[in-house]
Amino acid sequence: MNNYENSVAIIGAGISGLALGSFLKENNFACVIFERSSNISEYGAGISISPNGKDVLKKLNILDELKTISGNSKKTIFYSNLKEITSINTDVITTSRKNLYDLLLKKYSSLGGEILFDYELNDIDMENKNIYFKNGINHHVKHIAACDGIKSKCRQICFGSEMPQYSGYSVWRTILDQNQTNINFYLGSGFHIVSYPINNNKTSFVAAVKTREKNEESWMLRGTYSDLSKDIPIEILDNFETLKNKKDIYKWGIYTRSKIKSLYSTNLTLFGDAAHPITPFIGQGGCMALEDVYEFTKVLKSNNGQFLKTQKEYQSKRLKRVRYINKTSMNQGKLNHTKNPFLVFFRNFLMKNTNIIMLMTKKIWEYRI
Ligand SMILES: Cc1cc2nc3c(=O)[nH]c(=O)nc-3n(C[C@H](O)[C@H](O)[C@H](O)COP(=O)(O)OP(=O)(O)OC[C@H]3O[C@@H](n4cnc5c(N)ncnc54)[C@H](O)[C@@H]3O)c2cc1C
Repeated sequence: MNNYENSVAIIGAGISGLALGSFLKENNFACVIFERSSNISEYGAGISISPNGKDVLKKLNILDELKTISGNSKKTIFYSNLKEITSINTDVITTSRKNLYDLLLKKYSSLGGEILFDYELNDIDMENKNIYFKNGINHHVKHIAACDGIKSKCRQICFGSEMPQYSGYSVWRTILDQNQTNINFYLGSGFHIVSYPINNNKTSFVAAVKTREKNEESWMLRGTYSDLSKDIPIEILDNFETLKNKKDIYKWGIYTRSKIKSLYSTNLTLFGDAAHPITPFIGQGGCMALEDVYEFTKVLKSNNGQFLKTQKEYQSKRLKRVRYINKTSMNQGKLNHTKNPFLVFFRNFLMKNTNIIMLMTKKIWEYRI
């Protein structure tokens, strides 16, 4: 068995884990990824990467390749009850998670990165830097990088169990076999839909609804078109001609966690959703994961591999940003789903007659580490 006592143990091979592994390898820090699944799981869903996230992918040298296999819409059109309100120019990559994961994995592997599948983290001895897996294997490591996503075991071990709170929103998602050029936002009373091309012949469909029905927080929970049409008016669903016949439509309950206290603990640092779960209303969870891991590696390098100093600096640089994004995302959820006719009129008026959308996205998208 390999000896990992000089390696950073990355728990989870998602966006943050694979990107962190690549940055660490590039900067000659030994690391290894432990993933609970038997392969890279991407759940057949879409993801949009805004300029702040693209900047990190550029640093990994995978941006150009990602562009060639993704949707690269230049325009986002906003509708309110099927009437166009306004449109803006956009510089966002819309792609499938599979594309993104495949390229991140290819990058990590090209740097000689090692991944161990079927390793589900079960416990950590933080003081002694020992990690214990459900398959019965234990390792002593140099540092632990928690990249294990929204239901992070690492976060639970560091900060104790907490009860996620249902946010009042659920999300429908599927991938449609149809072509689309632009990113389309349909705003309605108590719901909104975002659809975008993930390549030349497939379109990601995501519909968020305000509902008291507490759906499970799971990528695997199937729903039906008939249930979807109870949440969203048929005349809007009719815009997606292939939706009616889709069998693989999924529903996901959006849950919130308490305010982020810290991004690290003794010998362990948190990244991405494990550090700061974010509601999906401004499409920033994956982008924040990318920003996190780039910042951490940059600081680690400048501190010559001293972890405690790096953890403190990483936290001071990231906490304000992720709190801001978290708050903005929650507010955007409220704005997207408002049922109040006066607020709808006011929101649409501002979107149509001012550059409010550009101002709101500027602080998020133009951020560079
Ligand atoms: C509906 C929806 C739409 C979204 N759209 C966007 C978008 O457009 N743009 C955007 O930037 N973000 C978006 N996000 C958010 C984004 O998907 C996440 O923020 C991102 O995937 C987080 O990356 P991560 O690496 O932290 O976690 P993940 O990508 O979830 O990876 C976690 C990994 O850890 C593994 N793991 C978990 N537990 C263990 C364990 N105990 N031991 C070992 N391995 C473990 C998992 O199997 C997984 O491989 C969206 C989210 C949702 C729900």
